[in-house]
Amino acid sequence: MPLTVNGPQKRATRYLISALSALLPIGLGILILHWQAERTLQQSTAQMAQEAVRQFDLMLDNTALAAQALLPLAGQPCDSGVQLALREQVTRRPFVRATTLSWQKNIYCSSLFGGGYESLVNPGDYVDGRLWLMDGNPVTPDTALLVYRLVDGDQGAFASIDGYHLTNALRLISRHAELILQVGPHWMGADGKVQDTALPVFAVAHHHLVSPRYHYSVDAGMPAGETWRYMQERYPALFSLVVFFGVLAGVLAHWLQKRSSAPTHELQRALGANEFVAYFQPVVRGDTREWAGCEVLMRWNHPKEGLVRPDLFIPLAEDCGLIVPMTRALLRQTAAQLAPHAERFPRGFHIGVNITARHCQDLALVQDCREFLAAFAPGQVTLVLELTERELINPTDITRRLFDALHELGVMIAIDDFGTGHSSLAYLRNFNVDYLKIDQSFVAMIGVDALSRHILDSIIELSGKLDLGIVAEGVETIEQCEYLAAQGVDFLQGYLFGRPLPCDEFIKSLISH
Ligand code: C2E
Ligand code: CA
Ligand code: CA
Repeated sequence: MPLTVNGPQKRATRYLISALSALLPIGLGILILHWQAERTLQQSTAQMAQEAVRQFDLMLDNTALAAQALLPLAGQPCDSGVQLALREQVTRRPFVRATTLSWQKNIYCSSLFGGGYESLVNPGDYVDGRLWLMDGNPVTPDTALLVYRLVDGDQGAFASIDGYHLTNALRLISRHAELILQVGPHWMGADGKVQDTALPVFAVAHHHLVSPRYHYSVDAGMPAGETWRYMQERYPALFSLVVFFGVLAGVLAHWLQKRSSAPTHELQRALGANEFVAYFQPVVRGDTREWAGCEVLMRWNHPKEGLVRPDLFIPLAEDCGLIVPMTRALLRQTAAQLAPHAERFPRGFHIGVNITARHCQDLALVQDCREFLAAFAPGQVTLVLELTERELINPTDITRRLFDALHELGVMIAIDDFGTGHSSLAYLRNFNVDYLKIDQSFVAMIGVDALSRHILDSIIELSGKLDLGIVAEGVETIEQCEYLAAQGVDFLQGYLFGRPLPCDEFIKSLISH
């Protein structure tokens, strides 16, 4: 079936859905990559913090050992022996820059100045009396210094680490991240400046680690935007893959939508362009072969494909629900075409119209039939709705009301293709059926297959018992015609009497008969 015009609004919706189908996997993919990057960065800052704590603990171990070794000397005069001991610790212990001794909170002996230097100790400067991150001392005023203090009564020993070692460790360990050493209210970063303002908060992968052995902590983290930078740097291939799959999903969604919506649009377009036309096939009396009515059969007068058979488009129209407006249009067209010739019809001329189960879901069909009948003089025609047996209707309150209303209007009900489905007697009674149309497959078997003939005979017998009219369709040969007439079949339809014809040809044939 060729595909043509699509409404602009529908197209916009289709593009929107395609775009969403593409963006969804891309968005999800980026979200997963972002989550993965964040996890990696978090692991990385946690490792950095651990490494920094290990380094600082190692440095402080040396200061602690130096202080322990010197503490017994505190209180002794700062003579050359004590000064030597102080300098020995500075020389022997890695990271230790200077050592001093105090007595009763007064520093009186130092590895740098010997006894020539005195200073008062304020224990409050030291976190828990132990550690002080200083901004510098008189020797190196702007260089950080981490001082370790050990006291025992009046005795006190101090060992300090130069800020150079601290910044060195911070710089070496922090690669993409920032590292901060915090001792009480003071902190310093890799720039070596000691500050006592609020600690900076890192937007990405912030990790805070407290040393289990000394009174300090380390913070590691990264500035905002670092996750995206990391993703761009590390995941270019995955990014491309995500975009590739997104585009693929979008194209696929577009193609699927186009495929599924094309026939519906095509039918909708054809309906708007009045391309569905009515063909009429005569139905004759079994006894006299007079033309007693017709069946209205839909054809699609396609601009490119020509006349399209109903079995190629009716199932599609049923699927998408367009069959209801299509049938409604067919009823109007039929009324408009036949009404001007109605006085030539025998009285009560049967007009059979095929109806699908979907059309019986509400009472709109009653109005459609009422409009149809209003085009003719009362009693001039009999509208027969043909419901196929392959598509049974569930009896509900609505369907009961529908069929009652149809009967009140004088509309008759025929079960089409009878013998191919499984309608029960209860079903026939429920819908107050008037006619059974024997499926053409049974008629075709007359004189060929004994079993089919038995089924045919049984259907004819059943219709007689139930007082239902019977129509045989697909009558192509004289033999079939005579057999059916002999069985008392009321009406016959088939190529033997006439093929489906457009209105004007049908009317001409009708007059000639
Ligand atoms: P159906 O209702 O059983 O219609 C009878 C079909 O048998 C018609 O085919 C008709 O052309 C064909 N036919 C009539 N006499 C003979 C014969 O002697 N030999 C053979 N081989 N075939 C014969 P058509 O017109 O192609 O319609 C096919 C089916 O499409 C119809 O079967 C009906 O189920 C459906 N259909 C047609 N028009 C409509 C419609 O307006 N609405 C609905 N819902 N279905 C329709
Ligand atoms: Ca039919
Ligand atoms: Ca049929």
